[in-house]
Amino acid sequence: MKQIVIISGKGGTGKTSLTASFAFLAGKDAVVADCDVDAADMHLVTELVTLEKKNFFSGYEAVIDPGMCAGCGDCVKVCHFDAILPEGDVYKVLPVECEGCGYCARICPVGAIEMKKLKAGEIYVARTRMNSLLVHARLGIGSDMSGKLVAEVRKEAKIQAEKIKTKYILIDGSPGIGCPVTASVTGTDYVVLVTEPTLSGIHDLKRVIEIVRNFDVPAGCVINKADIHPEMAMQLRDFVNHQGLDLLAEIPYDQNFSKAINEGKSIVEKKDLPVSGLINGAWKKVLENIS
Ligand code: SF4
Ligand code: SF4
Repeated sequence: MKQIVIISGKGGTGKTSLTASFAFLAGKDAVVADCDVDAADMHLVTELVTLEKKNFFSGYEAVIDPGMCAGCGDCVKVCHFDAILPEGDVYKVLPVECEGCGYCARICPVGAIEMKKLKAGEIYVARTRMNSLLVHARLGIGSDMSGKLVAEVRKEAKIQAEKIKTKYILIDGSPGIGCPVTASVTGTDYVVLVTEPTLSGIHDLKRVIEIVRNFDVPAGCVINKADIHPEMAMQLRDFVNHQGLDLLAEIPYDQNFSKAINEGKSIVEKKDLPVSGLINGAWKKVLENIS
């Protein structure tokens, strides 16, 4: 089973539209992992029926049982984060301040402090209207565990793909260059970089390529909105060649991208569009490169 990740150095390049199109073209041959966990939106391009929901836990917080607390104050003395306050004759933990180190629980003489696992999000396995599986997630409010959640989404996608024996896992990676991107790329077989001919597009492509190079994974590039700035498109082409990347497709600007999303579809489902043929060609090149 081959894992293909689609990433971009920045948001708004059409990464999710391209992933949704690849997912449509792959059909039941792929499990899709939506690893853009801070702004998951693959569900916008396909109706979903949720099959499984799992809680994602990361870290701990201390909780004091007021019925057991003897009010000795020992826990306050050892907490370096000022997370414990008196409340009447007993003490309580301020969850937002607690770093989950567990020191207080270890020294409490009456065992009144429990270290509870923190729920940081939820992972869903869903069936798409194409009858393929999508694994996606929702990060809890205020949680900064997106890199770990990406790893969990990928783990779940792999379990599902092995269970139903698909040929591919298609990963919609996080935009940018942070930890979730690294977690999206590691262990994959091919990286599709989506960019556009703008200053920020070129700049962000250069940054994201540095990450990809660390993993020694073959990569190809799709230049989206390729006709909006011919000079910069030429610069991008030169850069892609210089980097030894496969140029998978140059896709002109097409309003049908956003129209398709508004209709809850991928663009390749809209018949007879020239861009659909280009995306089809890009998918074929990806398959050739991983075979
Ligand atoms: S150490 Fe235990 S008993 Fe003492 S104040 Fe803290 S929670 Fe209460
Ligand atoms: S777990 Fe650590 S940070 Fe949280 S209240 Fe206890 S000592 Fe303080």
